[in-house]
Amino acid sequence: DGFQWLVAEVGLGHVGAVLSLEVSRLARSCSDWYRLLEICALTDTLVVDDEGVYDPGAHNDRLLLGFKGSMSEAELHWLKSRLQGGKQSKAEQGSLRFRLPIGLVYDPAGRIVLDPDEAVQEAVRLVFSLFEQSTSALAVVSAFAQQHLRFPTRWWGGKRADELIWSRLTHERVLNILHSPLYAGAYVYGRTKSRRHVLPGEEPRIKGRTRRVKQEDWPIVLLDAHPSYISWEHFLRNQRQLDDNRTWRAEEHRGAVREGPSLLQGIVLCGSCGRRMGIRYQRDGSLLMYECHQLHAQLAARTCQTMRGDRIDQAVVACFLEAIEPAHLEVALSALDQVEARAKQIDQQWQRQIERAQYEADLARRRYKAVDPDNRLVARSLEREWNEKLAEVEKLEREHALLPQAKALVLTGEQREQIRRLAHDLPAIWHASTTTFIERKQLMRWLIKDVTLSKRGNVIDAAIRWQTEALTHLAIPRHKKSWEERQTSPQVVDRVRELSPTQTNAQIAAVLNEEGEQAGMGGSLTVSKIEWIRYAYHVPAGCPERPKAAPTGQRGDGRYSARATADLLNVDVSTIADWCKTGQLESVRSTPLGPRWITLTPEIIAELGKPIKRQWKQRNTRTIE
Ligand SMILES: [Zn+2]
Repeated sequence: DGFQWLVAEVGLGHVGAVLSLEVSRLARSCSDWYRLLEICALTDTLVVDDEGVYDPGAHNDRLLLGFKGSMSEAELHWLKSRLQGGKQSKAEQGSLRFRLPIGLVYDPAGRIVLDPDEAVQEAVRLVFSLFEQSTSALAVVSAFAQQHLRFPTRWWGGKRADELIWSRLTHERVLNILHSPLYAGAYVYGRTKSRRHVLPGEEPRIKGRTRRVKQEDWPIVLLDAHPSYISWEHFLRNQRQLDDNRTWRAEEHRGAVREGPSLLQGIVLCGSCGRRMGIRYQRDGSLLMYECHQLHAQLAARTCQTMRGDRIDQAVVACFLEAIEPAHLEVALSALDQVEARAKQIDQQWQRQIERAQYEADLARRRYKAVDPDNRLVARSLEREWNEKLAEVEKLEREHALLPQAKALVLTGEQREQIRRLAHDLPAIWHASTTTFIERKQLMRWLIKDVTLSKRGNVIDAAIRWQTEALTHLAIPRHKKSWEERQTSPQVVDRVRELSPTQTNAQIAAVLNEEGEQAGMGGSLTVSKIEWIRYAYHVPAGCPERPKAAPTGQRGDGRYSARATADLLNVDVSTIADWCKTGQLESVRSTPLGPRWITLTPEIIAELGKPIKRQWKQRNTRTIE
């Protein structure tokens, strides 16, 4: 940097005098200039220009030099502001020239016209019509790519000025075209603003950064300034669509419609946290799930809720088709009449208020005019009153202007007829095999703003918010969870509980199979399944197979274990086994080698029982002594 070098040389005392044509131009700003003067004074360096020789060490010279610096900075500012002002006033008249987007050119007189090349015009029109159909900028790009279409660019300035280049269409260009108000015939100045911004690093560097200005804040907008490709309304509609298509901060935007079969894509909200729910296709895409996974994706928290989508989609579609049935539509149209009438009433009310305020302001003015001007005190207070009344009128008018316009709701007879006709055709269009999922989703989005899903016990509550902000609640039965599907039916469990005290597991299984009951997973009931049911539902076994499970030796069906029988009959267990084999005792066993359970009656005990041995008794008494 030359100036820095100069300062350094002066500071080192290498310089005797600084010569320049116009001294103040040496430095860019006053602060630099004063620093240079300071250093010159310290090192006894002179400053020379075409008007004289100055010694910064001398007070008078320094004052003069400082003054020159201030003047030059002021002069720079005026120059700049004059240039800016010229630019601004040119822009206000719509005559400031800048690079036009493709499809628009300047004619020899400097007016903006459509590009005379029809191929260029066609290409631009195609972008707009494709966007109208697909509502997604990326879809426009892919349509161009699929058809191997090229898009023009007109060279700006230079040797090849106005030459046409045809290349592939990019997403960025489509967005630029869709966002440009010039295509809607509007001359707009100030769509971007550059702001200075310090870059991080060792040496501070300052960089201009261009920011888009919101459409409401555009400083200069001249509508219908030149021929257009689309209308201003169409332009605004495209902006809304593009805004809606954004996927970042998904909770606020619905995103563009995509190809998947989920009809509520982008318009489902989570009833428990309010975030937009995502879509997941399971089992090779045959099973549709809605899940609230934003918290999981962003903060690694738990997925909020997940639910199967098929029944929800069906219910919402049914509701949607029902809403456009002619009968319902008539009700809606008549409701619209009422809304219209109400809006008119409100408007009248406002007009009356404004009129009254106006009248009072007139009165105050007349009172003020009538008073003798010499009576200053009275005149002043009357004037104040008049001003207040005028301010009141203005305030009312401003508030009225801010109210939503009732006019947007007014439908002409023809429009009503169109709506009725469309309602008649729509179900057929909806069900037609040629209608794609994208088209169905678009149809649905015209009426439905969003659907909020929340689980309430066995049902899913789907709150449909229509575009009119009206709400419809649907209660959709929930699918059973997979464990619920596998669960044993309650009547089987009850039956097991009923039979358990007097029947063995095998008997219970046989009885239930006879009765035609099924296990939870389907199929017949087996001993192990009964065992499992008893375990899971805490049903105690009345008739166990193992003797140890019956501490008294007798089980629910009245049979005795072999040990208990032996004790009762006062014989050996092996004798019991023999008697069972010979048929003297009636017994059952579930497996060939399993424990026996024996039926005993008082008669059998009397017949087979042996008297109690003495020896056993004696030994017993001896131990007691
Ligand atoms: Zn959630």
